[in-house]
Amino acid sequence: MTDTTTARLLIIGPPGAGKGTQASRIAERYGVPAISTGDIFRANIKGGTPLGKQVQAIIEQGELVPDSLTNEIVEDRLQQADAVGGFLLDGYPRTVEQVHALDAMLRPVGAGLDAVVLLEAEVDEVVARLLKRAELEGRADDTEEVIRHRQEVYAEQTAPLVALFSERGILVSVNGLGTVEEVADRIAQGLDAKLGARVGS
Ligand code: ADP
Repeated sequence: MTDTTTARLLIIGPPGAGKGTQASRIAERYGVPAISTGDIFRANIKGGTPLGKQVQAIIEQGELVPDSLTNEIVEDRLQQADAVGGFLLDGYPRTVEQVHALDAMLRPVGAGLDAVVLLEAEVDEVVARLLKRAELEGRADDTEEVIRHRQEVYAEQTAPLVALFSERGILVSVNGLGTVEEVADRIAQGLDAKLGARVGS
């Protein structure tokens, strides 16, 4: 059965490509919640929760939180009422094991990801953007050393996922260079085409 009212989406790309900014726009356009594992972890660190205490050092070093823990958090989040009719994941899945875990979470509802936006940007550009953000926001993992390490982790653990989504025929590659509006327009065009223009505008 094809459900034409839901959109299960993912935005993927190197740290600093602008995923968070574009994620909220995509979520609004398709009427689904944006779910960012990075935001969930940061909120827990800020709130001093047991989860926050568990992941703080890992995140500050630019390492990945263990798959088992991350999978559990996403599984809980996807069971909340607002995510039943679709969602936009930002920052998850990030490893091959996480892809398999997400597949298993969606299987009982006979669903899978409908489209994956790959936000492309050069390493030098994203590092420059993150260094600028470091001055403005002071995120603990935005020091130059950690930024470089996060790029390496992305290249090793997450970039291989792109081929996998491409094989599934759900990849939408978008050039992440340009203004927020320009990039948002490219994403909307690519996603509408991929999803069969299910959203008017
Ligand atoms: P960025 O894309 O700039 O690295 P995120 O907010 O997506 O920012 O992630 C920040 C950090 O949170 C990551 O470096 C990692 O430590 C942790 N994290 C986020 N999502 C995941 C995930 N799916 N698996 C493991 N760790 C994650």
